[in-house]
Amino acid sequence: MVNVGIAGYGTIGKRVAEAVMKSDDMKLVGISKTTPDYSAYLAKSRGIKVYAHSQADIANFEKASFKVEGTVKDLLSKIDIIVDTAPGKKGAENKQLYETAGVKMIFQGGEKANIAEVSFNAQANYDKAWGKKIVRVVSCNTTGLSRVLNALHSNIGVKQAKVVLIRRTCDPKEMEGLVNGIQPEMKMPSHHGPDLNTVIPDVKIESLAVVVPTTLMHLHTLIVEFKKDTTREELIELMKNTRRIILVKGEHGLKSTNTIIELARDLGRPRYDLPEVVMWEDTINVKDGWGYLVYAVHQEAIVQPENIDAIRSMNKMLSKEESINKTDKTLGLVHGYLYK
Ligand code: NAD
Repeated sequence: MVNVGIAGYGTIGKRVAEAVMKSDDMKLVGISKTTPDYSAYLAKSRGIKVYAHSQADIANFEKASFKVEGTVKDLLSKIDIIVDTAPGKKGAENKQLYETAGVKMIFQGGEKANIAEVSFNAQANYDKAWGKKIVRVVSCNTTGLSRVLNALHSNIGVKQAKVVLIRRTCDPKEMEGLVNGIQPEMKMPSHHGPDLNTVIPDVKIESLAVVVPTTLMHLHTLIVEFKKDTTREELIELMKNTRRIILVKGEHGLKSTNTIIELARDLGRPRYDLPEVVMWEDTINVKDGWGYLVYAVHQEAIVQPENIDAIRSMNKMLSKEESINKTDKTLGLVHGYLYK
């Protein structure tokens, strides 16, 4: 049994917390927060021990008469590993605290790659995190790219890849985002290609990104030159059999990210979460040695299973296949088609 603490209880933190609580080989000892907002009350009502992140934050909780268990330092003394889910770049500020406490640590994709020994994706490099002390679970976009490109590269061989990422402006709960415009990332290539290479170093990739006014999902249009001949049918078969990838069909009316989210709601997925990549079978094609694939990434949910697998690899708990099997069973993740 590994004792886990989580710093931050926002979009990612609350999902990782729930996944840890559902897993019978790890225990959630507590979470830390900077402010007593509604999610602090929610955590407490779910039996989770809430710690103030720092001594200075205790005043915020005292003002609201919210009783905390102590500060993150107290939490650190009771755990084997901390999953830092603080906003981007804040994790780097917390690192020294974790090092002093001597715990293992997982950071998220908002941190720079050099914060950790390994940038992690369960399917692409589970074994690289084996026994490691500091791991970064890569961002939602890099996780989606890693899953798909790992399957293509290890089964067919990828000579080069090009991807255009159409990014959601912000998460649904956030209050500031792009309302009426399309905003290209002012950098070519965007940071996503180089970030993919922190996980899969030997795939040549270029990426472009644009932000659009939607909050539901990202969408990737991926174009891949293969090392050997393949067919549309082989690609569909490969994607169908790849863990954590779901295939949907536009001909069934699932033509857009909002219809996919509606399907997740109809299936009763918690918070309509889709930690799997969702790929449109209709878009999969092969022409003149190049493959074409379009898929959606539910940014709020996709890294939830990866954090659980990272905990297992870092603590040498289960092999790659065993951990992925266990995580998928615990969280109800599937691959192939969601319905017949
Ligand atoms: P969030 O803003 O929803 O939640 C952040 C949480 O951290 C809040 O509970 C906040 O109270 C707490 N916090 C604030 N400052 C802190 C500090 N200094 N130390 C500890 N905790 C602090 O953020 P999020 O969307 O969950 O993002 C967390 C990380 O996950 C970032 O690195 C982000 O890039 C990455 N990520 C986000 C998404 C996404 O779509 N939201 C997807 C993948 C990865």
